[in-house]
Amino acid sequence: RQPIIAIDGPAGAGKSTVARQVATKLGLVYLDTGAMYRAVTWLVLQQGIAIDDDCAIAELANKCKIELTPSQDLQSPVRVWINDTDVTQDIRTIEVTSQVSAIAAQAAVREALVKQQQRWGKRGGLVAEGRDIGTHVFPDAEVKIFLTASVSERARRRQQDFQKQGQPEVSLEQLEKDIAERDWKDSTRKVSPLQKAADAVELHTDGLSISDVASQIVDYYQQ
Ligand code: C5P
Repeated sequence: RQPIIAIDGPAGAGKSTVARQVATKLGLVYLDTGAMYRAVTWLVLQQGIAIDDDCAIAELANKCKIELTPSQDLQSPVRVWINDTDVTQDIRTIEVTSQVSAIAAQAAVREALVKQQQRWGKRGGLVAEGRDIGTHVFPDAEVKIFLTASVSERARRRQQDFQKQGQPEVSLEQLEKDIAERDWKDSTRKVSPLQKAADAVELHTDGLSISDVASQIVDYYQQ
């Protein structure tokens, strides 16, 4: 089968851009699993369901239809639909970002989304990016990478992303606080927390460019 490359790591470590570049270089499909948790969170908020209503959220996660369409152009975002609504931009708001970890901590939500991710990966040929890809979703992945960077570097990158997307300016201090809080929630939850797989290669990306990191991963895969 074609390979699966698993890229995990905390918020803002550069996973999405790196994973897309690796997928393009190797002719594989890019799978952004965070976008799926974000889409479910968007729908929960849009329907006015309480964040702690596990039952209603479980039902919603099991019934919803999520589509991800990779864009050929590396500069434009991967398009994301939930129940036929295009939520590509809406899933990146501060509101969704601040609630997504609470929804992603719910066992039934993870079960529904992981099943779908594994179905997409059945025939291989994926670069999948998230928090639990190497540990839970694709434990047999051919290549496992754990990307990290300091909180201050990650906040700086997020601020640049916001500027590029024309989003309102957020202070570095606020971004550092949000990132640290999300890391804490993601790594202390009970179900498949953010964790480096025992057999993953850890890459610390402070001071490295995205294309350096992508090239290192491609070289590592081709060795
Ligand atoms: O990667 P991104 O920042 O878009 O992920 C949003 C959130 O989705 C994470 O903070 C985490 O709570 C959740 N997530 C997850 N497991 C994944 C991918 C994302 O729990 N595989």
